[in-house]
Amino acid sequence: MSGSPIPDATAMIPLAIPNLAGREAEYLQECVATTFVSTVGPFVGRFEAAVAAAAGAEAAVSTSAGTTAIHAALVALGVERDDLVIVPALTFIATVSGIHWAGGRPWFAESAPESWTLDPGRIETLLAREVVMDGTGVARHRATGLRVKAMVPVYTLGNPPDMDRLVEVARRYGLSILADAAAALGATYRGRPLGEFGADLSIISFNGNKTVTAGGGGAVVGKAELIDRVRHLVTTARVGSDYLHDAVGFNYRITNIQAAVGLAQMERLDALVERKREIRRRYDDAFEGVPGLRPFPSPEWGRSADWFSGVVVEGMTEPGMKRFVAGLRKRRIDARPFWIPMHLQPPLQHHLADDLTFTEGLWHQVLTLPCSTSLTHADQDHVVAAVRAQLAAG
Ligand SMILES: *Cc1c(COP(=O)(O)O)cnc(C)c1O
Repeated sequence: MSGSPIPDATAMIPLAIPNLAGREAEYLQECVATTFVSTVGPFVGRFEAAVAAAAGAEAAVSTSAGTTAIHAALVALGVERDDLVIVPALTFIATVSGIHWAGGRPWFAESAPESWTLDPGRIETLLAREVVMDGTGVARHRATGLRVKAMVPVYTLGNPPDMDRLVEVARRYGLSILADAAAALGATYRGRPLGEFGADLSIISFNGNKTVTAGGGGAVVGKAELIDRVRHLVTTARVGSDYLHDAVGFNYRITNIQAAVGLAQMERLDALVERKREIRRRYDDAFEGVPGLRPFPSPEWGRSADWFSGVVVEGMTEPGMKRFVAGLRKRRIDARPFWIPMHLQPPLQHHLADDLTFTEGLWHQVLTLPCSTSLTHADQDHVVAAVRAQLAAG
């Protein structure tokens, strides 16, 4: 079995597909041969150990998806019905799904231009204006009286926000921090690995479009005691070996099959992240100095995992971006627009939101481009030429 795509001149250059050139097939065979195909099996523990080590975290628990990891982690952190949870409007809906199904209410916050994720200065101003500490030391939203319980920074494209400043503000208000680090494995912040950025818990996704995949799956990393709590919740909160449960938990476990793929991928994490960074560098170099194009952000405080690559097309409107993407697709390039902000989503428009001028101006200017780790230089050069041609065509 080989991870290289079958050459086909008429096929699309895909956006982000798995690279399965390691021991994935061998490990999958082992699952079948040993009959360990379900939620119990040796690959689960090995996968979790590899994830914890790569994240520089005390412990890790694997889950069925990144989305379910967010849900369970927020419950473990104590988010309850009608708690407000601060989250950037600029994210994928999974972040908000987790908040919603934990019973919380998202409170949409602004992102910073230098990182495209939570802006600590803006958060500080927002909290000072709209939150008071009540007599029992609980942060409450002034206008509604709702408890403000947690903050969920998202490491957009693999970039963390300025975590030291964000953590300081969150602590002042007693907020728990769950990092949505879905695609950020491999990122560093001030030289520290993911598990040491300052969040109480961080989630990672192993969906098929991420840098390392388990076919599907997720993980939560953090301190052992909290991870034990998450593990308990995602395994039906069962006490002992009988059918007694001390909470209403979830069946959010990963399977040995998924963990087998995930472990084989984790063995190649460094090389795959390095390849992502090279792809990003090649796009940045190719588009440098082209009028109307700007690179994705590179905050000075960290090193992105560069999950997705692409370019900012300055001044592009939403319909303009749709046409631009359609043009690239005609040239057999699987380019995509970026996340539509959460406060603009029909089921989420009634939630509290800060002023989101930057987010509203940004999203339709963001073009994501093919960045599979198996992308050839020739295909990437074709993408670059097509973007330039499309830009010149107007
Ligand atoms: C991929 C992703 C998720 C969801 O992970 P799944 O494993 O697909 O459930 C959540 N948040 C962000 C920012 C993501 O990119």
